[in-house]
Amino acid sequence: MKLSHRISHITGGGSDGWDVFYRAKQMVADGIPVLELTQGEHDIRTDPVILDAMHAAAKSGRTGYSPVQGDLALRKAVATRIAAATGVPTTPANIQITPGGQAGLFAAHHAVLDEGDTALFVDPYYATYPGTLRSVGAVPRAIKTRAADNFQPQLVDLSAAAPGAKSLLINTPNNPTGVVYDAATLDGIAKTCIDHDLWLISDEVYDTQVWQGQHVSPRSLPGMLDRTLVVGSMSKSHAMTGSRIGWICGPEDAINSIFNLANNTTYGVASFVQDAALFALNQGPALEEKVAAPFRRRRALTLAALEGQNVVRPIPAQGAMYVMLDIRATGLTGEAFANALLDRHHIAVMPGESFGTAAAGHIRVAMTLEDEAYAIALKTLVTFAQSLLADGDPE
Ligand code: PLP
Repeated sequence: MKLSHRISHITGGGSDGWDVFYRAKQMVADGIPVLELTQGEHDIRTDPVILDAMHAAAKSGRTGYSPVQGDLALRKAVATRIAAATGVPTTPANIQITPGGQAGLFAAHHAVLDEGDTALFVDPYYATYPGTLRSVGAVPRAIKTRAADNFQPQLVDLSAAAPGAKSLLINTPNNPTGVVYDAATLDGIAKTCIDHDLWLISDEVYDTQVWQGQHVSPRSLPGMLDRTLVVGSMSKSHAMTGSRIGWICGPEDAINSIFNLANNTTYGVASFVQDAALFALNQGPALEEKVAAPFRRRRALTLAALEGQNVVRPIPAQGAMYVMLDIRATGLTGEAFANALLDRHHIAVMPGESFGTAAAGHIRVAMTLEDEAYAIALKTLVTFAQSLLADGDPE
């Protein structure tokens, strides 16, 4: 039987960009030790105090259906956290609880786009973005950013791409670049959305991982409150990737419609997971900082490892659990470099090309190994890049 065009075309055909990752996994399965710096997954697990709260909730009987918009207590906690961080009055009526940020991205786009609508997103991008847009029947349109601009979207490119589009998806702090959008960039984004009457979908799942500069939620900018849907998650902030818990924050009428979508799709998030999330949020910033601290440390290790050479150049590592490295001086593509690094030194990183065309000639390093192994991996990577230059024959 024939499947729908929509579902058959989610991936858009071709490689999914994860070849190095799969190769590394196969090497590990074959007994070859690999230093894996590919996936955005913490090397620590969910804190035991959160698991205790989850266990206690489940044992107390919180295993039945839950309110589909999310428990009021959790929505209140999320609204309070957002209001405190942004200064924007926010109530539980502005919050829909979702099973993770990815489900939030899908629901948010489903809410604002009709079949065939054009949806803007920024290249380089988090790997699922084009597929998420296609899965709601939209037509993805990429806005290229440049290494020379530190991958900050420029107003001129935003305005050139905007005519005819319905929405713009941004992500700051950014995966894969590790860049935090500055005030001028956010002003340009707001201006584009207002001038072209676009919805803004603001993916803020890395909002607790900021090493330099400040995370500003564009929902707080003038004229943006009624046209912004913020996607949040506890995957990265609380190392709860497997618990699948996140939210959408937006105007009340949009949230009501998204609630209706949830009624007909996810039908809620497990109550014991919501209780654990509420417990975790109630621990305040101290727990968030504990989860973020290893990445803060490893960012410093990265910058130290890159000192005194200019073959491998970091894109300003301002936030999130990744650093993007420019390896164009080696003459290799990101893909060739990542494959050669895996073959010769058993270190796995993501090619920039896996995240679109804008980060070609770069690699993304996930800072997800314990410090000592991480520092060794970085040092080896730099020495390898220098040897390519010295060889004159990178292959
Ligand atoms: N958005 C970005 C930019 C991400 O990097 C990720 C995961 O890596 C997600 C969304 C989805 O996160 P989750 O569904 O685990 O909340």
